[in-house]
Amino acid sequence: MYVRDLSISGYRNLEATTLAFENTVNLFIGENAQGKTNLMEALYVLGFAKSHRTNRDRELVTWGKDYARIHGEINKRIHSLSLDIQLSTRGKRAKLNGLEQQRVSEFIGALNIVMFAPEDLNLVKGGPKQRRRFIDMEIGQISNVYLYHLSQYHRILKQRNQLLKEYAQNRTNEATVMHEVLTEQLVKTAAQVVQRRLSFINQLQKWAGPTHRSISRQLEELQIAYVPSADVSLELDLSTIENIYANAFQEKKEQEMRRGLTLIGPHREDLAIYVNDRDIQTYGSQGQQRTAALSLKLAEIELIEKETADPPVLLLDDVLSELDDFRQSHLLNSIQGKVQTFITTTNISGIKHEVLQQAKTFHVNNGN
Ligand code: ATP
Ligand code: MG
Repeated sequence: MYVRDLSISGYRNLEATTLAFENTVNLFIGENAQGKTNLMEALYVLGFAKSHRTNRDRELVTWGKDYARIHGEINKRIHSLSLDIQLSTRGKRAKLNGLEQQRVSEFIGALNIVMFAPEDLNLVKGGPKQRRRFIDMEIGQISNVYLYHLSQYHRILKQRNQLLKEYAQNRTNEATVMHEVLTEQLVKTAAQVVQRRLSFINQLQKWAGPTHRSISRQLEELQIAYVPSADVSLELDLSTIENIYANAFQEKKEQEMRRGLTLIGPHREDLAIYVNDRDIQTYGSQGQQRTAALSLKLAEIELIEKETADPPVLLLDDVLSELDDFRQSHLLNSIQGKVQTFITTTNISGIKHEVLQQAKTFHVNNGN
């Protein structure tokens, strides 16, 4: 798929405009603080209905304005699609082909995006929260059902934590029927979420392994593994996963009531990333961590293409010139001619000649 044109108004520092893009490479050149990332972010919002940088939509609206609007015309493999999203302090409204969507989650994933930005190094270096966000966003864009289960899970979790907090405050060890009901509901949605995450990570590994091997010149073996908080694994069916979580909650019951908190479940789980059998979060060099993050992103392109039969759009914000020649070539070869790519840079000297030759170039200056 590719973004044919994009119209924006009231978005951050960007002047209202309509831009037509190439199906191949689109290059945005400009000094710092001119609006390059803002433009990438606007494209990202068309895919995910939220920013990659913030959860607060109001930050996306130009200072002093009431709302931001983004409109995109997308060419898919067999049809085209028109996307509209309006963001304001009073919430967001999203339209698919002119039709207002009751739930924003229905809008997510019509445009598939893979973004690689400097912050993605945090995927390896940062805390579990960042990795869970990565997993949730990526599965979310290929599965609306997953987004539904995840939001259910968080809703029930909030209620259950509230209840546990009351127990802890009252120093009671008598659980009520409510506890049983909420635990049962939590277990059901947790099993759905965890099962999907296990299969997603397994799929991602299939693509990330070979990619990483080849970027590291056959020197490194990348392994990723989902780290659940109960003893579950990929080959188990849904009801077995439910049983295992139900038992795990039973074991934790007293501790949870004492501490006033839900101690296990998808909100406490993580992704482990190993290179040559070592945890690179702890032992990896900066370069290894970057390569691993890049391998995961490239794997995502393959995975989305396989799941949706259409390659996603790739956003490279400020990262291409950060990669050495070998990694740049690898990246460019693997997307060559099949993935629409947006690249931002302050300086074209770090970018390979072949890219510059085939790119449609835009100069970004003070929001224009
Ligand atoms: P760099 O090369 O440093 O990454 P950039 O071109 O990517 O720069 P952006 O992140 O796009 O820069 O930011 C451009 C400007 O947008 C910043 O100066 C920022 O102050 C401004 N800005 C951010 N949010 C808003 C907003 N809501 N309204 C108006 N301007 C904003
Ligand atoms: Mg930027």
